[in-house]
Amino acid sequence: MSEAQAAAAVVAARPGGRVQAPFELLADGIRWQQSDSGQAITWYRNTRYPSPVQGADTDDQIRVALAAWTDPPEASIVLAFGGTRDVEIVPAPTPDDDPYCTAANLGVGLITFGDPLDDMGVGSGILAIGGGCSSSATHVINGTIFNAFTHGLVVLNSDIALEGYRTVPNITRILEHEIGHGIGLGHTDEGQDNIMYPSCCAAEMPVPPAIGPDDRAGLAFIYPPCAYTLSTPADPSSALGEQDFVTLTVSIPTCSWTATTDANWLSVVSKRNGTGGATVRYRVAPNLATQIPRSATLRVGDATVTIDQAGDTPLGNGLTWVFLGGEVTVEYSLRLKKELGGSNVPGSTWVASYCNDVMAYIPSLKVLNEGRYEGEESMIYYGQPTKWAPEIEELIVTEAHRQADSLK
Ligand SMILES: [Zn+2]
Repeated sequence: MSEAQAAAAVVAARPGGRVQAPFELLADGIRWQQSDSGQAITWYRNTRYPSPVQGADTDDQIRVALAAWTDPPEASIVLAFGGTRDVEIVPAPTPDDDPYCTAANLGVGLITFGDPLDDMGVGSGILAIGGGCSSSATHVINGTIFNAFTHGLVVLNSDIALEGYRTVPNITRILEHEIGHGIGLGHTDEGQDNIMYPSCCAAEMPVPPAIGPDDRAGLAFIYPPCAYTLSTPADPSSALGEQDFVTLTVSIPTCSWTATTDANWLSVVSKRNGTGGATVRYRVAPNLATQIPRSATLRVGDATVTIDQAGDTPLGNGLTWVFLGGEVTVEYSLRLKKELGGSNVPGSTWVASYCNDVMAYIPSLKVLNEGRYEGEESMIYYGQPTKWAPEIEELIVTEAHRQADSLK
């Protein structure tokens, strides 16, 4: 595991300022990855070096500074105070090591007072440094490649260097600012109403546990809460019923979810629960009992999508069906299509024969008058006593008109 320290300092107020983009990430981007699975990041006070805090309980002020980054509802990170540890800070054995990132504080944050290795000095104007060490492994959040913190660190300068900043709220502002670095925030130049402004402690700087608007934006960017997004089906489901799917995307791969619906005709096929992005397949039951479309809600995590389904489609509005009994000759179809369907709307009348019964050939008047097989001789094979009367065609066509008219 290669480690690299990233730290930034807060300095005493000075005129002028740097031009920077809104919130910056510490180094190229470092964050506590275990926060994504809901683990709190625990910080400890190093008791080896006396606290510079005057007029207040040091641990209380550390808790306030940690709460500043935990409380905002826009972000998911939780910082916990773990109490005290006694860690002697000694120079690192090699230049690749960091004296504040050792096995003694692996996986946690450590707050050390008094600048034991004299990294800052008295005349520098530097009040404290904050940051941490990271592994070389990367992960992506909000489209940004981050390394993962292995250690968090805050080191305050000596009591002399902190003179004038050792009481509340300024000492807490410094702790809050450095812990901000210790969770991955860089500096802001958006204004001195942000705790991550690089100099302390203008009157408008937030009083802990408050943070400023740009602090909040940076915090939410680095530690977004689980956000769930569902795709929308392109078309309503068929009235016949079908299976379809929506695509779930999540802001953090460890975001878990369950999939539910609010209607018994809409059911989740797979997956009913999971972690991270997924394809969620659902089944829509047939909707053939009614022509009324319907809608229900599919919920995955806190995302919802409305699933629409068409109602049954009536046949009568666009198509006229004529069901004729017997083995009618083709003149019936040609005549009824012409008279009922309108010759300029091909296919709008559909004539079927052989319906319910086949008692004989049903000849048109023309075929009846011609005699021969369909008009006369076939009656023998159908077992009929004689041929049809000449009114046969008009009786049938007139009845078809009567029924068709009754539906208009
Ligand atoms: Zn700083």
